Amino acid sequence: MQDTKTPDETGKKTAKTTALLGRLWGDYLHHYWPRLALALLAMGVLALTMSAIPFIIEAIFAAFNLQGPGSPQIADQNSVGAHSIRLTLDQLIQFGPLILAALGALYALSQYTQSRLTLGASLDTLRDIQNHLFARFLDLDFAGQRREMSGAIASLFTNDIQILREMLTRTTNGVRDLLQLVGLCAVMLFTDITLFIAVIGVYGAIGWPIAWLGKKLRTSARAAQAETGTLAAHITQSVKGAAMIKTYALETREQSRAGEHFEKRTSLLKRAAFLRAFNEPFTFFVGTIALGVVVTIMGLRVQAGALDGPSISRFVVALLLLSQPARGLSTLYAVLQEGLAAFSRILNIIDTQPLIKDKENAKTLSFERADIKIDHISFSYGERGPAIDDLSLALEAGTSTALVGESGAGKSTLMHLLTRLYDLEAGRIAINDIDIRDMTLASLRSHIAVVSQDTVLFNESLYNNISYGRIDASRDEVVQSAKAANIHDFIEKLPNGYDTLAGENGDLLSGGQRQRIGIARAFLKNAPILLLDEPTSALDAESESAIHDALEKLQKERTTIIIAHRLSTIQHADKICVLEDGRLIESGSHDTLMDANGQYAKLARIQFGATP
Ligand code: ADP
Repeated sequence: MQDTKTPDETGKKTAKTTALLGRLWGDYLHHYWPRLALALLAMGVLALTMSAIPFIIEAIFAAFNLQGPGSPQIADQNSVGAHSIRLTLDQLIQFGPLILAALGALYALSQYTQSRLTLGASLDTLRDIQNHLFARFLDLDFAGQRREMSGAIASLFTNDIQILREMLTRTTNGVRDLLQLVGLCAVMLFTDITLFIAVIGVYGAIGWPIAWLGKKLRTSARAAQAETGTLAAHITQSVKGAAMIKTYALETREQSRAGEHFEKRTSLLKRAAFLRAFNEPFTFFVGTIALGVVVTIMGLRVQAGALDGPSISRFVVALLLLSQPARGLSTLYAVLQEGLAAFSRILNIIDTQPLIKDKENAKTLSFERADIKIDHISFSYGERGPAIDDLSLALEAGTSTALVGESGAGKSTLMHLLTRLYDLEAGRIAINDIDIRDMTLASLRSHIAVVSQDTVLFNESLYNNISYGRIDASRDEVVQSAKAANIHDFIEKLPNGYDTLAGENGDLLSGGQRQRIGIARAFLKNAPILLLDEPTSALDAESESAIHDALEKLQKERTTIIIAHRLSTIQHADKICVLEDGRLIESGSHDTLMDANGQYAKLARIQFGATP
């Protein structure tokens, strides 16, 4: 692809790069400035040590040469080597090993110090970013979390952090490379300006095809990487849909779809591999041509009497040493851009402000009974029509209300609004006459226990899973709650009892057992408001009665709202509310609603199997 950026775009990109680097430094890296400053010092020492190497090599050559058959010539050229260290062979034998060992020690020590300091600071910075990112993720609104969950939140912590780590390492090495480059260029300049300019010209000329090839290589590697992601997503889908593929006999279609992905990935990988295979021999070939030109120029300079053998060796060694830092610097810009793009994705989450948060002066409340008034509330998810439409409802403390209605009627949404996972667009919800937006989120939520259809369990001990209901509960309280939820006996019979791990997603337990853990949590929380989403799927008879019994106990004295799917639950409720398209269309007891023979009677007959 041609680089066709306008100066304006380039300017914007530079401004963005600067801004992101500024954030990286200002928000995170600067905490470690003492370590980074020391690392910079070590880099300086390293660059100086490296710049000394050409002089040492020169001195060694000169010492040998002075003793050799051509030695008289050197005397004539003393003017050439005026600013160099020239040793006799005796001096070399005496001091050579010492000087080399000292130089080696200095080089090794400064390199180790520099690496340790920069790596330590980078890794600590990455840990800080991850902590910050996770904290901000937890702060996000429920809506935002759901959006990001389905998106790439996990990959921010893995891929993007990895890319950022690469960038931090490479950038700090880049500073080191730059100092070495400056040092070695100074050595070459100092040796012979004309030769230096000639060499820069030659290498500049061969630099661009090599850089162009490098860019192509990176683009094709990225394309192959992206295709790997698509392929992985496709395979995951096939694995998940294995049962569907079999029952619908879709094997052939799946095979050909996967085959297309394999083919595409193979051709991208081939392209990247072939480019890589071409890269090294090409660079070698171009390098030898450049060397040929440089050797000729060197010959001319020696002929002109500007240089002698040992100072040429100084120049050549500096040139050879230069290749490593130059290579590091040549790809630095690309790595920097990739790293900053990852950082910018991370900042997107970090900078998102939650909309649902405590009002200024929000009250921290404590109450044991809860009268709930829902007053003309409306809510919609984005552009879609209203999910709750001008709904009013009064829930007396200690009573139970069953919500019924077809799927999509707005039952779950109402629960979400009560817990402020979403905020109302119009109307008001009040508990004991206090608007729920006037109390802190923490105090609102600490007075509500939710038992959902699908209890979320973490892969930790069952004990911990129950104690999430109230983190500071005593062991006795946890056990009492488990007993009340009719799950204690089951847990006791397990070989590891309460220490048994729940498994990934709690899948070592049956649906009914998971639900009872959820109920135990709610008992432990002992909140005055209870939101229940009754399981829709059939449970085994034993679980069913154990759950039913536990739920009945749990509802006592609490203001309960149940999304009801069973006739038995509905009949026991103090009040039944029928929702349709986000509106309350009927309410009353089972008998009165059956007598009225309206929408409820119809639903009850079809969905709940009620007989008139
Ligand atoms: P119920 O619990 O009665 O089945 P919901 O409260 O889940 O109904 O849904 C009410 C309406 O809101 C439906 O039209 C549903 O499609 C829509 N809805 C629910 N959740 C979301 C969401 N996260 N984003 C967009 N629309 C949603």
